[in-house]
Amino acid sequence: MAASANFADDLIAWHRTHGRHDLPWQTQPVDPYRVWLSEIMLQQTQVATVIPYFYRFLDRFPTLASLAQASEQQVLALWAGLGYYQRGRNLLRCAQVLVRDHGGQFPATAEALQMLPGIGRSTAAAIASTVFEERVAILDGNVQRVMTRLTCVDAPWGSPALTQALWPLAQERLPKASSDMPAYTQAIMDLGAMVCRARQPSCSQCPVQRHCRAYREDCVDAFPRPKIKKAIPTRQAYWAVLMNRDHVWLMQQPEKGIWPSLWVPWQLDLQHPPQDWEHVGKTRTAIISLRHQFTHYKLEIQAGCFAWSGDRPVGAPRSLTRWTWEKALALPAPSPVSRLLARLAHAAKESGAEPHRCSLP
Ligand code: SF4
Repeated sequence: MAASANFADDLIAWHRTHGRHDLPWQTQPVDPYRVWLSEIMLQQTQVATVIPYFYRFLDRFPTLASLAQASEQQVLALWAGLGYYQRGRNLLRCAQVLVRDHGGQFPATAEALQMLPGIGRSTAAAIASTVFEERVAILDGNVQRVMTRLTCVDAPWGSPALTQALWPLAQERLPKASSDMPAYTQAIMDLGAMVCRARQPSCSQCPVQRHCRAYREDCVDAFPRPKIKKAIPTRQAYWAVLMNRDHVWLMQQPEKGIWPSLWVPWQLDLQHPPQDWEHVGKTRTAIISLRHQFTHYKLEIQAGCFAWSGDRPVGAPRSLTRWTWEKALALPAPSPVSRLLARLAHAAKESGAEPHRCSLP
């Protein structure tokens, strides 16, 4: 059987009755703005997580033109909690480039879309195939897993060798007719999310079982091959949360580095932690431990909470600013900071400046 024989037909036929047709970006006629927005949000993120963000975003920025006029802080505030903040920043840059250089229209080919900020090869293909019916293959994480099992590519998960091998295999399985591309692209994404899942794939329900080499050779569990594990280092961070019943002090991260432009508590450079907390003040009321995992390292954070009513402390960064709790909670902040602030805001209201009653996981 040729690799692609009837594969696309089987997949599209299954999708007609079993696929997802009511996602908020699946409008008729197709709206390129919605498709693009959803594709950026869906990078590294599950559909269920994306949907509320997608609605909030559309509510605030219903058109590409309205987004292009936004400030970075407005976009990041709506993005807060979705992670991978560079996506939010690139989203804004991309909208501005489209308005400035493309008359507010999306270019109609994957090749041209890839030239825009934040749009990689797979995202460009998803937009071009869904909106413009171009015959180009996507290869997001779910599709990589499906293709790996269909073909038994023997390369570690996450390796360049794997994606290099998979691109042509994905391309040769596309439907012949361009008009089938929107359905096919959604179908292969749905297959990865609903049937050929990472754990316990439903091979007995799979519409492309007869095309699947791993199934035929009874080795589904062996694919994808495991990732080559690298030891992930742990770094320590020390924060001072200056707060009282009404206010909390936060500083803005620089544009480069971790959490660029987001708001965080005062980050201390302690030589001899934790004894050095003393230079902040003697009114520390609690130390709260937090952990956050980045792609390349783990961050262990000790957040010291201080009852504070004065001005900006001597030696603190100039961006350390006093906010009411209400305003602080609306600032763009990374998820561990958002969680910390939500709990401390509650503790501050309940007990004045005594957050020691607050315990975080
Ligand atoms: Fe995935 Fe199983 Fe279908 Fe193969 S038969 S594509 S392993 S669900």
